[in-house]
Amino acid sequence: MTLIDTRTPDPKRFIAGTTDDWEIIIGLEVHAQVTSKSKLFSGASTEFGAEPNANVSLVDAAMPGMLPVINEECVAQAVRTGLGLNAQINLRSVFDRKNYFYPDLPQGYQISQFKDPIVGEGIVTVSVGPDKQGNFEDIEIGVERLHLEQDAGKSMHDQHPTMSFVDLNRTGVALMEIVSKPDLRSADEAKAYITKLRTILRYLGTCDGNMDEGSMRADVNVSVRKPGGDFGTRCEIKNVNSIRFIGQAIESEARRQIAILEDGGTIDQETRLFDPAKGETRSMRSKEDAHDYRYFPDPDLLPLEFSQAYVDQLKSDLPELPDAKRSRFIGEGLSAYDASILVSEKAIADFFEQVAEGRDSKTAANWVINNLLGKLNETSQEIEDTPVSPDQVGGIIDLIKEGTISGKIAKDLFDIIWEEGGDPAEIVESRGMKQVTDTGAIEAAVDEVIAANPDKAEQAKEKPNLAGWFVGQVMKASGGKANPQAVQELVKQKLGIE
Ligand code: ADP
Ligand code: MG
Repeated sequence: MTLIDTRTPDPKRFIAGTTDDWEIIIGLEVHAQVTSKSKLFSGASTEFGAEPNANVSLVDAAMPGMLPVINEECVAQAVRTGLGLNAQINLRSVFDRKNYFYPDLPQGYQISQFKDPIVGEGIVTVSVGPDKQGNFEDIEIGVERLHLEQDAGKSMHDQHPTMSFVDLNRTGVALMEIVSKPDLRSADEAKAYITKLRTILRYLGTCDGNMDEGSMRADVNVSVRKPGGDFGTRCEIKNVNSIRFIGQAIESEARRQIAILEDGGTIDQETRLFDPAKGETRSMRSKEDAHDYRYFPDPDLLPLEFSQAYVDQLKSDLPELPDAKRSRFIGEGLSAYDASILVSEKAIADFFEQVAEGRDSKTAANWVINNLLGKLNETSQEIEDTPVSPDQVGGIIDLIKEGTISGKIAKDLFDIIWEEGGDPAEIVESRGMKQVTDTGAIEAAVDEVIAANPDKAEQAKEKPNLAGWFVGQVMKASGGKANPQAVQELVKQKLGIE
């Protein structure tokens, strides 16, 4: 296969070598577990965390005479995913046997797709940044193909001093292998790409993206070259299971290759493993002794064929995806930056939309980003864990808008609701948090502060900026409850400014 370089070289992406600049070329093969109740070719459950070998049917155990039966939902999930990746859906695809021996693969072959995958070329738009100026840039990463295949089981070598065990629960679970073109140029781009891919799959509901449960893992292909030159020899780092490790694996592997090339050596095409403890990759096997899998069409399965109408139906039922949602949010007045944050997870976008319903979108966005996400970040929690509901955040915003509470008190109110729950308006009422708009009371407080600071009051006539200090003192004296506009006006008036 000839690879076409679709990216223009961009010097700011190169990493510094010791003698010259090098460009890193990366392509990812992502294995994403299909969200479905049962396996790709059997009715056994896909539930995570079950007792070893509890979810194994006769088909999964490869008992003689058992025949695979395609799970229609898994096929629909792969088509949905292809549509979400703006990809070509192939109306005819073929399942092939990929032959190899492994103790956790009872069939002696994996059913996969080789020449005719269910999904062809697609595109993922990835936002990378921020650069030193704080800007984000959209880049397009090509998808080569997506195919369906079976997962293997798990060999367990740490359960017994002299024996290895096999857990076949995962055997036969449907995977989508999503292969990118070699369009990625840095660890940051690769991390942004897989993050975006995961977001899209989660929006689609086709893969839960939980990398720590193994639902998503990546083979990372890395090569280096002098900018503008031909692609170099690549190494493939197998089965990397966290986004952070993907970044570390790319950087250490690129450094290793650059060091060899700068010493006048050559890169051997090989399969490597990333060791997170050491932060480096090590050789697993060279491509020379790579298996000849002897792919051939599985005689037990007919080619998959479906009509354009079937694809169109799935397409019309797709949910709104992150890019479309982001454009819509920007159209509703949000900045590109805020919109990107809000769509980064579907649950965050849903939360925001409930808050924004019937309210100013920018105010809703500020509250969700600065207060809600800020607090979740501070407490290392996810949006799913939030103790504050969209209605409660909306209630706080309404109280500010009506002038019942100040912005400062609103933050306190948010903290109270975070800890104790409750209705915003009732809490404001019962705890006397209402804003003081009674000018008589504010006037008295202003007079008091001025009387206590005659020197500053005198200076303020020359330096009007000092008014801010007086406003701060009055706000403090009122416990944040005075109406800031009223205080501002009265301070200026009493100090004789303007
Ligand atoms: P294989 O099946 O042997 O792994 P593929 O042609 O399917 O080979 O490529 C696998 C992955 O390697 C793809 O994601 C592709 O983008 C990537 N890739 C191909 N050439 C290079 C290269 N020179 N440097 C980095 N990645 C590459
Ligand atoms: Mg590969």
